[in-house]
Amino acid sequence: MIETDILIIGAGVVGASIARELSRYELQILIVEKEVDVAFGTSKANSGILHSGIHDLPGSLKAQLCVRGNTLYPKIVEELNVSYKNNGQIIVARSPEELPILKKLVQQGRTNGITGFSELSKEELLQLEPNLSTNLAGGVFVESAGIVIPFDLVFALTENAIANGVQLAIQTKVLNIVYDKKQFLVTTNRGIFKTKKIINAAGLNGAKIAALIGDDSITIHPRKGEEYILDRKLEGLVKRTIFPLPSENSKGILIIPTTEGNIMLGPTAQEVNDSTDLTTTAAGWQEIFPEVKSLMPSLKATDLITSFAGLRASGNTDDFIIAHSPVSRQFINVVGIDSPGLTAAPAIAEYVIELLQETGLQLKEKKVFNPYRRLIRMQTLTREEQEILMKKDPAYSRIVCRCEQISEGEIRAAIRRGATTLDGVKLRTRSGMGRCQGGFCTQKIITLLCEELNILPWEVTKNGPGSEVLTRSLRNK
Ligand SMILES: Cc1cc2nc3c(=O)[nH]c(=O)nc-3n(C[C@H](O)[C@H](O)[C@H](O)COP(=O)(O)OP(=O)(O)OC[C@H]3O[C@@H](n4cnc5c(N)ncnc54)[C@H](O)[C@@H]3O)c2cc1C
Repeated sequence: MIETDILIIGAGVVGASIARELSRYELQILIVEKEVDVAFGTSKANSGILHSGIHDLPGSLKAQLCVRGNTLYPKIVEELNVSYKNNGQIIVARSPEELPILKKLVQQGRTNGITGFSELSKEELLQLEPNLSTNLAGGVFVESAGIVIPFDLVFALTENAIANGVQLAIQTKVLNIVYDKKQFLVTTNRGIFKTKKIINAAGLNGAKIAALIGDDSITIHPRKGEEYILDRKLEGLVKRTIFPLPSENSKGILIIPTTEGNIMLGPTAQEVNDSTDLTTTAAGWQEIFPEVKSLMPSLKATDLITSFAGLRASGNTDDFIIAHSPVSRQFINVVGIDSPGLTAAPAIAEYVIELLQETGLQLKEKKVFNPYRRLIRMQTLTREEQEILMKKDPAYSRIVCRCEQISEGEIRAAIRRGATTLDGVKLRTRSGMGRCQGGFCTQKIITLLCEELNILPWEVTKNGPGSEVLTRSLRNK
């Protein structure tokens, strides 16, 4: 039986950020994740924006941790080699009547401690973003907002935490927890773990996990967001993330440039009962497209290449719920982490460490902590560096994904870093994310997964058991 000081339930951006932060100290830490890979929950399906904090209610944990998280990111992405851009955000007013509401939003941002605003006249707005509609009345530019690849961030945080001694158990679902006032016995489908403290970072399942120790203080209601991705040929059409004024339950439907050059449109915000409903719908697209088209008339539906949906795990307090459980102070709930949870994650980690210290946890810094994750991305190397690499390992000279120009060497490296499924490879390398959406490279990636993992083609899955990609009839031929 594995015994740990701290057991973290959930390897999304929140669990992974906490694990990495705790890996600086002399502690036994285990993350348990029910899925086949990390980042397979909400943390892989969001807008990837590092928000400024202008939208959050002053005094809320969301406001405090979003603003703090935003300032922590530049160092983290540098250390972990994660694609990031400080591209800023523009919130636009569609009409002169909306301008006073925009001013109130700026005031809210100032109260939240944000600096670096510029109010933009219609002309200044069009100078910065010439493809926006000439019908807009003006806007506000907020410098501090940025964009990041959310799943790459989680892979990097986890890899770095593991490099610093954290243990990760994937395909390990927490089923029951017993607390005997000294320690927790956590029953999973892969055995029982003993731990002194638990961090509940289980996203959509956060309320169910809390209920396992008799904590019924939390409810989670999933709010679906559909997002639509446009072809990379539109790179540069918009540089900053474009927001309309917020609606009652969301920051609005946005035009989001990604660090890799695609443009993303969305998200919707729809309350759903089913916490597994990740469908995208005609209704979702019909809600999004006219909205964004009115902000940027040159957008065309024919540039759409794919879509996805994510589920915000909204809690019952309208704020993040980050606190000792009323049942046991050794059990910390980190739930209700809807937007801006991605942005806030590094600050959430700091906050959770303070809560752990309040329970008497002694933090002794490790003599050696390695803050870095290094990764080879062929496209970011100079021609000379590419030549050296290809000579050393010819797999880097064989292109597997033509759309995104991803080499066999990068795919093999991703599998050696932990990818075991087609989605795991795709999210780590971008292979299959281009215009053809894997039409050309999927079969080659299946072969590479088989070679690297020593498995058979019909054992390869899209994202875990039950999503095998080859059928029995093929297998029998
Ligand atoms: C459409 C959309 C757009 C968004 N855009 C942004 C944005 O631009 N910027 C921003 O800051 N935020 C954004 N967010 C919010 C952000 O994505 C979330 O706040 C964040 O991903 C939450 O991370 P998490 O680690 O709490 O949850 P998750 O990523 O869901 O991680 C929880 C993990 O717990 C695991 N788990 C659950 N139950 C168990 C169990 N019983 N045993 C073991 N493991 C378990 C799950 O498998 C999962 O991997 C957006 C959200 C959505 C849906």
